[in-house]
Amino acid sequence: MTCIFCNIDKERIILENEDAFAVYDVFPVSKGHMLVIPKKHIKNYFDADEQTKTHLWKLVDECKEMADNIFAPQGYNIGINCGEAAGQTVMHLHIHLIPRYKGDIENPRGGVRGVIPDKRIY
Ligand code: AMP
Ligand code: ZN
Repeated sequence: MTCIFCNIDKERIILENEDAFAVYDVFPVSKGHMLVIPKKHIKNYFDADEQTKTHLWKLVDECKEMADNIFAPQGYNIGINCGEAAGQTVMHLHIHLIPRYKGDIENPRGGVRGVIPDKRIY
């Protein structure tokens, strides 16, 4: 099967560096939801080499600066789904950068703990 992240239209790239690029998520969970993706086809975060990881995280920081300027959110969630059991659907590593806005949900307590919805609020 062809990989959608190996075949992203170059015009959709927001920011990039030597090893990574960023695009807006096509089904955003919030305004400004971005994905930071390695240029190499790597399935799982834990398979990435150190240089790729460094460049991925540098780009996450740059995307955050950009999102601050454009969308001015009050917070962020950062997440990686590693493997089908953890909810990964596109089998090419990507880091979700999700801007968060005061009041976007009634009680945001627990944030990424919400991967197990019943356990989010502790
Ligand atoms: P995951 O469940 O972590 O594998 O997330 C896959 C993400 O990719 C989802 O948030 C989708 O909305 C997003 N997505 C799917 N196709 C595309 C695409 N062509 N361009 C950008 N984002 C996409
Ligand atoms: Zn790929």
